[in-house]
Amino acid sequence: MQAPSVGGVMLPRGNGETVRLSRGASLTDFAEKINANPASLVAVMMNLGEMVTATQSVSDETLQLLGDEMNYTVQIVSPEEEDRELLESFSIEFGEDEGGDEALVSRPPVVTVMGHVDHGKTRLLDAIRKTNVVAGEAGGITQHIGAYQVTTQVNDEERKITFIDTPGHEAFTAMRARGAKSTDIAILVVAANDGVMPQTIEALNHAKAADVPIVVAVNKIDVEGADPTKVRGQLTEYGLVAEEYGGDTMFVDISARQGTNIDELLEAVILTADASLDLRANPDQDAQGIAIEAHLDKGRGAVATVLVQRGTLRVGDTMVAGDAYGRVRAMLDDKGENVEEADPSTPVLVLGLTNVPGAGDNFLVVDEDRTARQIAEKRAARERNAAFAKRVRRVSLEDLDKVLKAGEIQQLNLIIKGDASGSVEALESSLLQLDVGEEVDIRVLHRGVGAVTESDIDLAMGSDAIVIGFNVRAAGRAAQMAEREGVDVRYYSVIYQAIEEIEAALKGMLKPEYEEVELGTAEIREVFRSSKLGNIAGVLIRSGEVRRNTKARLIRDGKVIAENLNIEGLRRFKDDVTEIREGFEGGINLGSYNDIKVDDVIATYEMREKPRA
Ligand code: GDP
Repeated sequence: MQAPSVGGVMLPRGNGETVRLSRGASLTDFAEKINANPASLVAVMMNLGEMVTATQSVSDETLQLLGDEMNYTVQIVSPEEEDRELLESFSIEFGEDEGGDEALVSRPPVVTVMGHVDHGKTRLLDAIRKTNVVAGEAGGITQHIGAYQVTTQVNDEERKITFIDTPGHEAFTAMRARGAKSTDIAILVVAANDGVMPQTIEALNHAKAADVPIVVAVNKIDVEGADPTKVRGQLTEYGLVAEEYGGDTMFVDISARQGTNIDELLEAVILTADASLDLRANPDQDAQGIAIEAHLDKGRGAVATVLVQRGTLRVGDTMVAGDAYGRVRAMLDDKGENVEEADPSTPVLVLGLTNVPGAGDNFLVVDEDRTARQIAEKRAARERNAAFAKRVRRVSLEDLDKVLKAGEIQQLNLIIKGDASGSVEALESSLLQLDVGEEVDIRVLHRGVGAVTESDIDLAMGSDAIVIGFNVRAAGRAAQMAEREGVDVRYYSVIYQAIEEIEAALKGMLKPEYEEVELGTAEIREVFRSSKLGNIAGVLIRSGEVRRNTKARLIRDGKVIAENLNIEGLRRFKDDVTEIREGFEGGINLGSYNDIKVDDVIATYEMREKPRA
C-alpha cells in the first residue's frame, strides 16, 4: 500500500493499535499518544474536509474519523470511566462497599417525590416533615438543606426514611444523567380529583428507567369529586397494579393538606423497601456518597448538602466532592443542629469545602489532603476540557450496531413522542414486536403525546436513548439541547418508515439515504415516429449530460408532466451511445412513453447515496 501523504508530509500510520482518548480531546492530545506531529493531524483533517486547529477540542466522531484514516482504533473514554480510572490511580474505588456481606448493615431508604404539577408534591414533603416534628424532637427549626430524614413506627420498630427535598423528576433525572443514583424509592403523587396526567406518566417512566420501585400516593382525597379508584384503574394501564388488585404496587390514599394517612404512606415506603430492595451499606469505612445541593454562602463559604451512601462521614475528614475539596469543618443536620458524624442514608450540610460541587457529583473521604487536592484539580481540568467538546456523542442509530457488537449495551432505549396517543401506541406496539434476535431488545422508556421536550432529552441522555418524534417536533430549547448533548432525535410521519429504520439499524444495516442529483437537460427539437420504437425525441442537450438508463422527467411549459421515465435509448446519428454531452444533438427514446412534443424538456437525474452527517 502506498504511504499516505498530504502536501508531501508523511502521515503517521498505525497498525490498528488502540488509542485511548478522553472525550473532548484535541488533535494535539491524539498526536501525543501516537508520537506524531500535531500539524500532520491537522493536515489529515483538512484532507478530510474539516478545518480543525491542533488544540481545539473535537467531537467523538472527528476522533474516530481521524483514527480510521490513520489506521488506529480510537477508544473514547467517558467521563465516568475516566473518573474511575483517576480514583484507581489513587487506589480508591468508588461505589462499592468495602468488606464482605458481614460488613453490611441495613440503611434507610432514600425517597424522591414525583408527580404532575400541582398534585401536591411540595405539600406532601411539608406534611411529612411536620408529622415528624410533632412525633419527635422539639426545638431545632427545620432547615431546607435539600434532604431530610424522618422516623416512623413500623411493626413496633423505629424506622428512618430519607427524603430528597426537591420534588419532581427533573433533579432526579439530571443527577441520573450524570451517572449518580440518588434514589431508592419514588413516591408518585397523583391528585385524586385530577387523575393521571402527562407528567404523572413522565415521572413514572423516569422511575422505571432507573429501576426504582414506586409507591403511589393518591392525594387530595379530601376534595369533593376525588376518585382514588379511578387513579388505580388508570395506572394499571401503565403497569402499576395496586396490591388490592393483585399487583405489587402499594397505593395509599392521602390528603397532604389535612395530614391524612401520612404515616400509612411512610409505612408503605418501608414495606416496599423491605420487600423489593436490599438496602445495606458498610458504615465502617471512609464515607462516600453524592452531593445533592450546594451553594455559596456569604458568611460560611461553600456549603454542600451531601447524602452519605456508605461509610460514616465525620467532622475533620478530608473529602473531595466533584472538583471541590477540603476538610469538613462542621456538619449540620436537617434541623440545623451540629452533628459530629453521619452514617449511610443520612443527609448533612457540610462546611469547609474550597468551592461548590455540582448536584449529582460524587464525594468521597480520602486519607490525605494532598490526594483530595490532586483529585479535585484533575477533575477540574477535565471539566474544562469537556466543556470545550462541542458534541458529546451518544448512541445514534448509525453506530448502534457497532456499540452492540462492542457489548456496551444490550438494549435499544427509545423515547416516543407523537401527535396523538393512538399513533404513539401503535408505533410503540409495532416497535416492541420487532424481532431482531437474542442479543438486543427494545425498551420504551417513555412515551407521550406532545412535542419533544427538554425533559425527554434529559431522560435520553441519562439512558442513552434515541428519541422518536412522530408528527411532532422538538419544543423550545429541546432541539438545541439535543444537538449540544448529541442525543439522536428522529422525526417520522409514516409509522412503517420509523419501524423499518429502527429494524434496519438493529440489524446493523441502516439503509443509506438517497438524494436526487440532476444530470442533464435536453430540449426536444423534433419528434420522430418509429413504428418499432414509438416516438423518438430529437434533442439538443442544454446542460450537463444525458446518459442511457438514467431516470428522467418530462417538463412542459415549466411543469412536470411525467415522472419516473427512463432513458431507454440514446443515439447520435445512427449509433447507439451511452451518453451525450452539453451542446450536442441526439435522439432519446423514453420507452413506452410517447406523449412528447417539440419544446418539451427532458431532465435526467439519478439517486445518489447521501453521505450521512
Ligand atoms: P406540586 O406542584 O405538586 O408541588 O403541588 P403543591 O404541593 O404546590 O400543591 C398544589 C396545590 O394543591 C396547593 O394549592 C396545595 O395547597 C394543594 N394541595 C396539595 N395537597 C392537597 C390536598 O391533599 N388536599 C387539597 N384540598 N389540596 C391540596
